[in-house]
Amino acid sequence: MDRITIAIDGPAGAGKSTVAKEVAKRLGISYIDTGAMYRGAAWLVVQHEVTASDEAAVVHLMDSHSLHFEARDHGGFEVFADGEPIAAQLRTPEVSDVVSQISALPKVRDLMTKWFREFSRRHSVVMDGRDIGTVVLPDATVKIFLTADLDERTRRRAEEFDKKGYDVSWSQLKSDIEQRDARDSSREVAPLRPAADAHYIDSTGRSVSEVVQDILNVVEQVSYD
Ligand code: C5P
Repeated sequence: MDRITIAIDGPAGAGKSTVAKEVAKRLGISYIDTGAMYRGAAWLVVQHEVTASDEAAVVHLMDSHSLHFEARDHGGFEVFADGEPIAAQLRTPEVSDVVSQISALPKVRDLMTKWFREFSRRHSVVMDGRDIGTVVLPDATVKIFLTADLDERTRRRAEEFDKKGYDVSWSQLKSDIEQRDARDSSREVAPLRPAADAHYIDSTGRSVSEVVQDILNVVEQVSYD
């Protein structure tokens, strides 16, 4: 098969990262978690107490702290700032709160989009995010829009936070997810929305392996068309 690019977009907590990683592993190609890169930028903003709406300051911060990523075999993906891995810091409630503010900044998006495209020109890749099928890889081989109902997405996030020992209430989590989706969907640049040619998958009540299989079926169909 020639180089293949798979775009997986959808709202928070839809299970994109879990299934994208597994699809990459099964196909033996790279996985890029674009949300983790936006979270990396948000983490820098939190660490250095920069105002999230100050575009020039956020871009300067990203430049001066050499934010970058590495994709590994078997769906591995790591974000670094100043050469140090920062994965463990990216899923805190503080970072989740700031990330949708900085991801609305056009210059931040331009930088990220450039890095993601550069990678995809050289590698077969599964990329998940909000604007992959619409903006980053408009010519992706396969585009998926993955969603699930709000209660299920809240439950998945609650389990994730629980495992990490964060004490966040159900209603707080649910409203944070709603607020982040609203910000991501309403921003002017690259809002969250399905690409016209995306395959829509609702993962409510379905297992990871079922959803992964659905995506692999679409990939197979497209590869033989
Ligand atoms: O995927 P995840 O929930 O980790 O993404 C965190 C945030 O990063 C999203 O809520 C969104 O604000 C931003 N993001 C984005 N575009 C992407 C990926 C993530 O704006 N392609």
